[in-house]
Amino acid sequence: VKSFWGTLSDVDEQNKEKDKLLQLITKEKELNELKSKFVNMVSHEVRTPLAGILSSVELLEIINQNIDASLKEKSAKHYSRIKDQILKIGELMNDVLILGKIESGKIELDVEEVDFVANLSKFSTNNINITDSNIIKLFVKGTPKKVKMDWKLMEHVFTNLLSNAIKYTKDNQKSPEILINFHSKDVEVTIKDYGIGIPKDDLKLLFQPFKRASNVGNINGTGLGLILVKYFVELHKGEVSVISEENVGSSFTVKLPY
Ligand code: ADP
Repeated sequence: VKSFWGTLSDVDEQNKEKDKLLQLITKEKELNELKSKFVNMVSHEVRTPLAGILSSVELLEIINQNIDASLKEKSAKHYSRIKDQILKIGELMNDVLILGKIESGKIELDVEEVDFVANLSKFSTNNINITDSNIIKLFVKGTPKKVKMDWKLMEHVFTNLLSNAIKYTKDNQKSPEILINFHSKDVEVTIKDYGIGIPKDDLKLLFQPFKRASNVGNINGTGLGLILVKYFVELHKGEVSVISEENVGSSFTVKLPY
C-alpha cells in the first residue's frame, strides 16, 4: 500500500511539474507575442514622421533649384517641419530605449535622501520652455520631510508630467501649478493644469503604449511618456492617479511613501 501511494504521489508531483512547465511556456509565448506587437507598433510610428521628412526634403530639392525671395519663405517652413519631425523621432527613440531597459530589467534604483521641495522648486523657475506668461507656481502643505528616492528617475517623472501640463495648455489658459502635500506616511505631488483636459472615455487608455486622447489635435507627442511615469513611480512603491475634465484641466497626482 505504501508503495502504491508513493507511486501515486510521484505521478502527482510529475503532473504538477508538467503544469508549471506548460504555464512557463505559455507565459514566454505571450511575452514574445507582446514584444513583436510592440516592435511592430514602434516601426509603424517611426515610419509616419520619416515619410513627412522625406516629402519635405524632396520639395526642398525642387525649391532650391530655382530659389528666389518668394520661395525662401516656403523653404524655411519645410526646414522647420523637418526639424520637428526629427525631434519627434528622437523623443520616441528615447522612450523606446528606456522601455527596452525596463523590459530587460536593467533599471536599478539609486536611492538617496532628497530635499523634495528644493528639487521641485527648480521646475517652477527654470526648465521646459517657461515664458513670462507661463510661470509655474509651487504650493507646499504639511511639514516638509526628506524623501528617499532615485531622483534621476523621479526627475524624469515630474519633467514628463510638467511638460505635458504645459503642452496641453493653450496660450490663453491659466498656467499649471505644482502642489506638494506632506502627509504622515506619504507625500503627494499634484501637477495641476487648466488646459484642454482629457475626454472621459480616453482616461482609461492613457497608460497604454501609443494611446493618445481624441482631443490632442496637432499637439506633438509619442503616447509613451505616461507609461514611463507609472513604471518609475511603481518602482518606488508609489501610485499615480489622474483626475481630468475636458476643457477644464487635468491633475496628475504622484503618491510616494517615505
Ligand atoms: P504624449 O507624448 O502623447 O504626451 P503621454 O504618454 O505623456 O504621451 O500622454 C498620453 C496622452 O495623455 C496624451 O497624448 C494626451 O492625450 C493625454 N495627456 C497627458 N497629459 C495630459 C494633460 N496634462 N492634459 C491633457 N491631456 C493629457
